[in-house]
Amino acid sequence: MSILQKFSGFLLSIFREFPRRHLIVSAALAGCLLALTAYPGKYTEVKRQIAEPIAIVIEEPAPEAEEPSYLELDWKEQRVASGDNLSTLFQRAKLSPLDVYKVSSSKSGRALRNLYPGETFRFGVNNDGILAELQYIKSPLESHIFTYKNGSYIAEKQLRQPEVLVSYREGVIKDSLYMAGKEANLPDKLIMELANIFGWDIDFVFDIRRGDSFSLTYEDRYLEGEKLGTGNIIAASFTNRGKTYQAVRYTNSKGRSNYYTPEGRSMRKAFLRTPLDIFRISSGFNLRRKHPIHKKIKAHRGVDYAAPRGTPVYAAGDGKVIATGYSKPNGNYVFVQHGQTYTTKYLHLNRKKVRKGQTVRQRQLIGTVGSTGYATGPHLHYEFLVNGVHRNPRTVKLPQSQPIAKAEKAAFLKATKSSLAQLAEYQRPTQLASAQRNNSSAN
Ligand SMILES: [Zn+2]
Repeated sequence: MSILQKFSGFLLSIFREFPRRHLIVSAALAGCLLALTAYPGKYTEVKRQIAEPIAIVIEEPAPEAEEPSYLELDWKEQRVASGDNLSTLFQRAKLSPLDVYKVSSSKSGRALRNLYPGETFRFGVNNDGILAELQYIKSPLESHIFTYKNGSYIAEKQLRQPEVLVSYREGVIKDSLYMAGKEANLPDKLIMELANIFGWDIDFVFDIRRGDSFSLTYEDRYLEGEKLGTGNIIAASFTNRGKTYQAVRYTNSKGRSNYYTPEGRSMRKAFLRTPLDIFRISSGFNLRRKHPIHKKIKAHRGVDYAAPRGTPVYAAGDGKVIATGYSKPNGNYVFVQHGQTYTTKYLHLNRKKVRKGQTVRQRQLIGTVGSTGYATGPHLHYEFLVNGVHRNPRTVKLPQSQPIAKAEKAAFLKATKSSLAQLAEYQRPTQLASAQRNNSSAN
């Protein structure tokens, strides 16, 4: 007979003699006793878990010999330079082609196939000259650790999540967007992104005026308190000649991110306003100096963008190259047809980068600025034709942009509301200040 059976028999005999009203209390007590006797293992286990760490601290203070094994390794570090591959890196770290083979043929060796300049390799070699650990540090956020075990390598991918904080910047243009962005402490990447977002509505070469202003919120990424860099623009506003444009970033249900107006129209349009890399122009372009636009000739049918020779020229929209060649008046030229209605022409190119019949994507490089043909200096002559008729590329009404999909509209409005409210909140002090300035100047 087990202890448990004896115990319950004993309880039953008690119950028979007890008055009824005491039964419930007794049953509860018995339950507690049963729990203790039925699970002796679990109970002591819990006790042991609590007691053990204390015992270690008291009885065995960590001896020096117990240091982690990686500290015994001899570490060498190599930075990936352009032209490097695994072999050159291993060679510089005094490791053999056999080591290269063992690591690259391991199960996760595929991760080592595409190396980029600036990445880091750390080689940990043990006392026996064996590469015991290889750390492939792609970025502060991504590393691959290869560890030597029983003659081969096992790998572990380590990903870290940065902390994202929202930053705000604003500026007023005096000389150029680029200069104003620099003054506002914006990295080049974000100034360009800002121009890309609004570049469909605003011609940053011709339309920018002194007093135009911008404001934006964007992501700043940190890892353990250290700044990693900037992320995406979250929301932005641009006031050009008194008209304010707003854009907000939204990632749709398929994971694709784009910029939209607060009403949900895509900022992206079928045609670029300026079919060339505006930063090659506007970084050195000063509004206070007269812009050296190529002198207009009679019956001029396009726009001339004065730009340094070699400035990239882009296809204004998706289309097909219908002609390329050279003629005395046009120099090197490229003509692109966009659907049935539109044709764009690019003249005086230094280099042509596409062939006749080729399909091109919007913003694809099709040539570079030059001064071939009748041209006094390097510039892009750009023409825009609607149904075969020349129109002014700067003022022609372009096809409407796509609204956000109906199914996404509710999610879009919900997701972007806080981004836009946050931008407005940041903008408020400046708007108040300028309103006060206006009031006092009116008095
Ligand atoms: Zn021209």
